Amino acid sequence: MTAVSSTTPRMLGNYVGGRWTAVAAGDVLDVNNPATGELLARVPLSGRNELDEAVRAARAALPAWRAVSVIERARRLFGLREELWQRREELARSVTAEMGKTLGDARAEVGRAIEMVECACAVPTTMQGRILEDVAQNVDCETVRQPVGVCAAIVPFNFPAMVPMWFLPFAIACGNTFVLKPSEQVPMTAQIIFEVLDELDLPPGVVNLVNGGRPLVEAMLDHPGIDAISFVGSAGVARLVYERAARAGKRVQALGGAKNHMVVMPDAVIERTVEAIIGSAFGAAGQRCMAGSVVVTVGAAHERLMEELAAATRRLRVGDGMDTSTDVGPVISTAARERIGAAIDVAIAAGARAAVDGRGAAADSGPGNFVGPTILDGVTPDMAIAQEEVFGPVLAVVAVASLDEAIAVVNASRFGNGTSIFTESGAAVRRYRHDVQAGMIGVNIGVAAPVAFFPFSGWKDSFLGDLHAHGGDAVEFFTRKKTVTSRYFSAGDGSGPYFVE
Ligand code: NAD
Repeated sequence: MTAVSSTTPRMLGNYVGGRWTAVAAGDVLDVNNPATGELLARVPLSGRNELDEAVRAARAALPAWRAVSVIERARRLFGLREELWQRREELARSVTAEMGKTLGDARAEVGRAIEMVECACAVPTTMQGRILEDVAQNVDCETVRQPVGVCAAIVPFNFPAMVPMWFLPFAIACGNTFVLKPSEQVPMTAQIIFEVLDELDLPPGVVNLVNGGRPLVEAMLDHPGIDAISFVGSAGVARLVYERAARAGKRVQALGGAKNHMVVMPDAVIERTVEAIIGSAFGAAGQRCMAGSVVVTVGAAHERLMEELAAATRRLRVGDGMDTSTDVGPVISTAARERIGAAIDVAIAAGARAAVDGRGAAADSGPGNFVGPTILDGVTPDMAIAQEEVFGPVLAVVAVASLDEAIAVVNASRFGNGTSIFTESGAAVRRYRHDVQAGMIGVNIGVAAPVAFFPFSGWKDSFLGDLHAHGGDAVEFFTRKKTVTSRYFSAGDGSGPYFVE
């Protein structure tokens, strides 16, 4: 990241034990606006000492927080929901400034973040256990849910507001304490979230924020004071996190990268399908784990789709996400722009044809990290562009003859996050949803990211673990079950009047 401003940038803080703390020494990174290059802030890269402090504070807060009634914990979340709602525009602008997505998209992200808190507010119902009377004569059996302990989340750059909220509200609702490590590329939105949390007067140490990069993550994975890790990021790091944290005896959920296919059947409603594909492939400049990055056309769908899809793609405006006329913002960094450009070059060298070529967009759109929306036609399933995550505004098009072939292409992927089918045929949908190996399915929906009340349920290399993020899985992940079998001798043998002397 490069600095262009001469004014002294704000140094971001950690939030530990109920107060903002400065990081004493160590490396610092610049945080730049990816659309303008403006230096927004500087983020300290914390080390083991800062982590120790945060974990100590979180452990110390556990008994008191667990003792707060579950109804009162839910009320604190009502407060969190209201405060986030009051500051929603500020949050959205922060997301656009540091991450680059359009303001409309950022507002939608913040809406989803708030929805997570709303879902977590149901904890007095969702955390209930189960009881069965009379498992033997005069013997009852019950399972209760208790907090896991100190829970930590390590999150990616592409959803600075929403992804932390996949975990934080559910974890604390269930009586755990929490440590968040934001992406060092987009650490500013989390500062606002923690300003809001600070105003809630939670007991000190219930929520903690520690900024840092890879060494901090490694320290978290090994730290004996952390009981559970939630990770969201690229597939390689997800595997590393999953294996290392499990080796240290922690509960882990690790959400990884993706390569999402959108199957278009010959009977698809083309105009609406084009809209959905464009939103999916190029929204957030393709930097979503649910971005559709491969279109698989079946039979005549290719001819029906391509002209309209290419024309609509050429109409998209590339620019600063703060500008309301922008459709596609920048990618996160210069390195990302170069990596995406190289992936397009490799695909073309392998025989793909650029139906729309966005590589020249940088020149028209100012100093930021811009890549224009790109469509590569004539892609075959063996090409890298069909298999590897690009995480940029690049859409590959693979043509096949039948739904069977389309399903085979989708299922050959090592990833299994989301996939969509566009058709009006119930039979085709039935077949697709039954046979396809991916965890989130859209039917005539381009980005089938589930609402907060359902789990974000990726498969294969897109998810390592058992319990997914949000929905009912969140309460499962953030609680431990305890099963009690009981009888009382003075209650009699179950056949007569009970008495207690
Ligand atoms: P990333 O893997 O580079 O970084 C994620 C987090 O891990 C960051 O906090 C970072 O500091 C840390 N990290 C990075 N490299 C590390 C290393 N070698 N060792 C330890 N920690 C490391 O991911 P990103 O570029 O920030 O985010 C984009 C990726 O996240 C994409 O692959 C995208 O598909 C994925 N993602 C997945 C989901 C999902 O739900 N499956 C959601 C959002 C993003």
